Amino acid sequence: LSTKCIKEGQAEIRLTTEKVFYNPVQEFNRDLSIAVLSLFIQDYKAEKIAKMQKNVKKSNENIADDVAQSGSNLEVPVTILEALSATGLRSIRYAKEIPDVNKIIANDYSEQAVETIKANVVHNGVESLIDTSHDDACMLMYKHKHPSKRFAAIDLDPYGCPSTFLDSAVQSVQDGGLLLVTATDMAVLAGNSPETCYSKYGAISLKTKCCHEMALRILLQCIESHANRYSRYIEPLLSISVDFYIRVFVKIHSGAIHCKKTTSKLSMVYHCVGCDNVTLQRLGGFKPNPTEKNPEQTKAYLPAGPPVGEYCEHCHQRHHLGGPIWSAPIHDERFVTRVLLHVEDNPQRFGTAKRLQGCLSMLREELPDVPLYYTLDRLFGRVHLETMPMLVMRSALMNAGYRVSFSHASRLSLKTSAPARAVWDVVRAW
Ligand code: SAM
Repeated sequence: LSTKCIKEGQAEIRLTTEKVFYNPVQEFNRDLSIAVLSLFIQDYKAEKIAKMQKNVKKSNENIADDVAQSGSNLEVPVTILEALSATGLRSIRYAKEIPDVNKIIANDYSEQAVETIKANVVHNGVESLIDTSHDDACMLMYKHKHPSKRFAAIDLDPYGCPSTFLDSAVQSVQDGGLLLVTATDMAVLAGNSPETCYSKYGAISLKTKCCHEMALRILLQCIESHANRYSRYIEPLLSISVDFYIRVFVKIHSGAIHCKKTTSKLSMVYHCVGCDNVTLQRLGGFKPNPTEKNPEQTKAYLPAGPPVGEYCEHCHQRHHLGGPIWSAPIHDERFVTRVLLHVEDNPQRFGTAKRLQGCLSMLREELPDVPLYYTLDRLFGRVHLETMPMLVMRSALMNAGYRVSFSHASRLSLKTSAPARAVWDVVRAW
């Protein structure tokens, strides 16, 4: 292979072998990650500085606020690990395009990849910002699990399934740090191989109309379960299904008491083989007890959601059981809005700015408290009716007092707060 020269964002990389992975279609993934990380790092630094000031104040109660501010060391070092780096393109873009990053580690276990990264780092003049590492990603992360060595952000962008990297990753992110995870094994996650999905992600996937959002929720559930083992838990900032992969951005926090709330954020999924209806059953619950001094310290526990029968209540056919899935919100609406505004204000920064704006606008509109969605073609196809126009369907539900939105994961999607019975009523009236 003659030397290939690739320009993306502010990076220019050279590729001399086809053995090192490069996918131009992932430009969108890299653009989105840069937008998310730019805002996340601002917040991360502000949160850490506020915490340091509070600690200085606490250790000397008589100290004035301004003295506390000037007296504390306000430097917050930000180190990002790209654990699976291939050409180094992503790390180089992070170094050149994200303000306030002190260090990036670009790691790969392939010798050829590491040679390529080194050459590209020099070619882009970012030697002072990027360290290359030739190691197994898990081994490298385990070496950084001590709180003093953790990363502000870890990016996992593997071929296929990321689950083998999660145990080490959830331990090596700072409190309040960010984990960015891609999964490309969509066949497994979208229900073609539910048994494999269970062995890899600890959840059964289903072949449903809403399989792409279900894939996101299976991955989030998987990260949460890994984090919980170390008394840590996730806070999803943004989750997206696009092209042939899914990508999630989650903050990692520590707190055993918060891990008790995990079961209230998980649900089993009952999928009817007849009418395609999907019903969720929450795994359990955690009910803060307001009469206790610290309501969060309560022992009160809600039982699981109401049982869902073996047969569908709408068409009396059998259910398939899937999950557990993450059934709490998959985005932080305010964060998504800020990312959208950032892209709108700086379109020149991103080669895929238009697509980013479209996707982020869709994410922002999604009903945050309604997991999964219908698709109109499947809904009407099952009863052999011509598909109702989306506008008519949405108006009918809204007139009945329910909320509706699209999902970014499918063009014909319908998310609604309406119970399934109300949706079937509209279908019957068509
Ligand atoms: N992040 C890159 C980008 O944006 O262009 C693409 C990464 S590519 C999909 C996956 C890379 O992970 C490959 O270069 C492969 O050599 C590397 N890899 C796979 N397993 C690994 C492991 N256990 N430790 C370190 N690197 C690994």
